[in-house]
Amino acid sequence: MNNLQEILAQLIGFDTVSHKPNVDCAKYVSEVLTELGVTNWLDIEVLDGVEKANVVAVVGPYAEGGMFLSGHLDVVPFEGQPGWGSDPLVLTERNGRFFGRGVADMKGFNAAVLDALGRLDFGAFQRPLVLAFTCDEEIGCAGSGRLVERLPGLLDGCPLPEFGWIGEPTDFKCLAGHKGYMILDVLIETPGGHSSKPELGVNAIGLMTRIAGHLRNLEDSMNGISDGSVLSDTSSATTINLAEISGGLAHNMIPEECRMRISVRSRPDADQSGLLDQIGAIVAGAAEGAPENGVATSLEIVQLTPPLAAPLDSRLLEVMKEHSGEPLGYAPFATDGGHFAALGIKSYIFGPGELDQAHQPDESVSVDALSRCSTMIEDVCTQFLMG
Ligand SMILES: [Zn+2]
Repeated sequence: MNNLQEILAQLIGFDTVSHKPNVDCAKYVSEVLTELGVTNWLDIEVLDGVEKANVVAVVGPYAEGGMFLSGHLDVVPFEGQPGWGSDPLVLTERNGRFFGRGVADMKGFNAAVLDALGRLDFGAFQRPLVLAFTCDEEIGCAGSGRLVERLPGLLDGCPLPEFGWIGEPTDFKCLAGHKGYMILDVLIETPGGHSSKPELGVNAIGLMTRIAGHLRNLEDSMNGISDGSVLSDTSSATTINLAEISGGLAHNMIPEECRMRISVRSRPDADQSGLLDQIGAIVAGAAEGAPENGVATSLEIVQLTPPLAAPLDSRLLEVMKEHSGEPLGYAPFATDGGHFAALGIKSYIFGPGELDQAHQPDESVSVDALSRCSTMIEDVCTQFLMG
């Protein structure tokens, strides 16, 4: 077993499905970093009795112009998923590919990072390399969402890098960001009553349909549609999905409650908080047309991942392009990079493994791709941080 394979085997061996504790895995990463001489901090918190940890690390002089590298430690579930040909928690090699849960998404990249660090001459760094290994990415990038509030403090005075690299599996295609993502719950509560006397109550479902209509209009207006036609290409559009709705108890009652869950994917360059304000105004406005009689509306943010739009002319990209080629648009999925972008760190998404391997049974990645990735990380760090 070479070093990369050994590290990957260790990482795969920790069951880090998102709802489970991941502290053992984080401690292992921390130990590897410490052995390499990389200053690091375990960022541990207890959520609903479950211990969760991010690992933050920095190496090199605390100067401006550093580089950020990040990967998530958690994986999606595998228990009960049919189609596994070997134990998901045991790294297995068959036909030039590694198998195991997370080899592609994205413990393979993390292993490549740790492997590459072992070949770098930190003494020659002119600028810092900042690393973050996160938890809870697979449940709405929640770990990085919590980490960003503490990250500047954890870094002990090291300036935050302006540019970063998130190694999600893109089969080595460079992506310059992704859409923002929000899950929002709308709740309407009204006075109900007997359906034979509709004038004595306010129909909560009726009000919700009004909100739904306004949201459709908002989506159309953002995408320049005014004639009711359907967008043929939504890859770069802001879309509002009316995802779930429930309300009402019986056919002869005026429903006094209606709930709707919506998901919003906003363009990488869109103003996500401005859009949230617009949706908030639509929800609040639904009560206004109703007779003033105890109608209450609320809008709850269930999940919010900010968009990420990295520039197409940065020095980091110049260096990365030798390995990645030109960026090919944006990722269809959100990443931790959205939260880090809120701190001013603009990351490129670029990593080994095919996206269609992620979350699948018998998840695999090519052995060659991982060693190629390790070499790339070494080269990019050398060029960007030492030059
Ligand atoms: Zn991932």
